[in-house]
Parts: sequence; C-alpha cells; structure tokens
Amino acid sequence: MNDGQERVILAVHVRGLDGMCVGCRAWWSRLAPYPCWQVEWATSRQARTITARFLGGVR
Ligand SMILES: [Zn+2]
Repeated sequence: MNDGQERVILAVHVRGLDGMCVGCRAWWSRLAPYPCWQVEWATSRQARTITARFLGGVR
C-alpha cells in the first residue's frame, strides 16, 4: 500500500562511480554491487504495480 517506498529506494540506491550501490554504503556502510537486492526488489514491485494498473484499466 506504500506506493512511494519503491521510488525512495530507487532514488537512494543508485550506481556509484566504482559500480557499487551508493545507497547501501550510505545507509548501512555496506558495499554491494549495483543493482543491489533493494533495487531488484523495488523494480519488481514497480513492474507489478504497473501491470496491475494496466490490467485494472483494461477491465
Ligand atoms: Zn543498495
């Protein structure tokens, strides 16, 4: 139900110059190769939301 959550994650978790996720380093001081699992989660959630909206519009 929280629609903005994915957008926040995608805004923070961006690719750094070294190919690592900036958001993971800033939030948890953790090095993770981009795209990290948070980005994967957010993009899959967004895709599902878009699909649901599309199907809802057709009906
Ligand atoms: Zn990240």
